[in-house]
Amino acid sequence: MKTSYFAETALLAEGWCSDVRFDVEDGRFVRICAEAPAEDADAEVIRLAGPVLPGMPNLHSHAFQRLMAGLAEVCRNPADSFWSWRELMYGIVAKLSPEDVGVIARQLYIEMLKAGYTQVAEFHYLHHQPDGQAYSDPAETSQRILAAADSSGIGVTLLPVLYSHADFGGLPASSGQRRFIHTTEDYLALQYQLDSLLEAGSRHRLGSCFHSLRAVTPEQITQVLAQHSPEWPIHIHIAEQQKEVDACLGWSGKRPVQWLLDNVGLDSRWCLIHATHLDLSEVEGIARSGAVTGLCPSTEANLGDGIFPGTDYLQHQGRFGIGSDSHVSLSISEELKILEYSQRLRDQQRNRLYGVNNPVVGDFLYRSAAQGGARACGIEAGEIASGKRADFIVLDNSHPFIATAQPEQLINRWVFALNENPVLDVYVAGQQQVAAGRHPLEERARNDFAQVLKRLL
Ligand SMILES: [Zn+2]
Repeated sequence: MKTSYFAETALLAEGWCSDVRFDVEDGRFVRICAEAPAEDADAEVIRLAGPVLPGMPNLHSHAFQRLMAGLAEVCRNPADSFWSWRELMYGIVAKLSPEDVGVIARQLYIEMLKAGYTQVAEFHYLHHQPDGQAYSDPAETSQRILAAADSSGIGVTLLPVLYSHADFGGLPASSGQRRFIHTTEDYLALQYQLDSLLEAGSRHRLGSCFHSLRAVTPEQITQVLAQHSPEWPIHIHIAEQQKEVDACLGWSGKRPVQWLLDNVGLDSRWCLIHATHLDLSEVEGIARSGAVTGLCPSTEANLGDGIFPGTDYLQHQGRFGIGSDSHVSLSISEELKILEYSQRLRDQQRNRLYGVNNPVVGDFLYRSAAQGGARACGIEAGEIASGKRADFIVLDNSHPFIATAQPEQLINRWVFALNENPVLDVYVAGQQQVAAGRHPLEERARNDFAQVLKRLL
């Protein structure tokens, strides 16, 4: 069935356009016409209430971590770091049931949709029972994630994570990690099972995922990639912490990204999560490969990871997208703003991240992150163009900043000046999931989430 829409202002693949009419059929944009004649906005056409943008893919999520967002901001140790945060996270992991995972994920995905995210890459490593035994269905927790995505309406790129070791050199996992651990054979069996569950043509995708170079051996990477379907994305956490870079140097004589470039080879299927600590040859190597860097600015700031070398990376036209990772923020504008402000604070200058042909910082960051995020999620989306999946959002024209901005100023107003969420309506593959800022399941999801919080915390 075909549905037609009309927007006074829309961000199309070629740029901002006025009086745009577009049709959606089978979940995709099929005909887009800018400067459409007035009679095109007739009664059969749905008039969208404000400026229209492509939906934003969220390329990195650990859904269960939403439970502890904001609770780790207490100084227990003058040397608090990523590593002490991780011990707290392991304590939470030990308590979660598969039902809890589903409740947390559904609430999270509804919040994501309301924020303007239309696809989420779920980097899913909580596979087993608290004692490390597999559930009778090895895909038990993965199925909870898929069900949460189905009921919320977001698309999910499910990334079952291969996690086998505690550190470089194949060190045995710690007790806090036992719910995560797979052999390569069990991992491949899980991937095979999940592949058979996903229907062709659905919003969901599957990918391969290595927790980090700490957690798998080079042989495991080779074995998994030998079975990897060519259209799937490949994700890995990499070079998030200086300690990890030093350990990788001690293990291999190479920095983590350099090790990947030299020993595995990167290409456009890869998404490198964080990639915070890079030297210039690694920056060039990622950019040249076409891989996407998965930046999670609010989490990276929260965990004290470091500052991504964004200005160098953009000089080489590197691709990137954004993720909310530990979910201390569910705000697209906050991710983009922290990314830009981190560069300003480091360089003591303004307007650091922009494109060769686009000096408007917020506009450039949004468009780049939408396209890079879609690639990292393995979906044809991220821009409003014929043939792409019809993921789009409508901003609230009742806000004076939105109502009065020139089109190219709109995202700058949102990213740098609005303290409220201006996302009004959200469509995923042509289906409306959020209307006037509300999701149909939000009350129930919030109540169930509150029950989980009360019981576990
Ligand atoms: Zn992560």
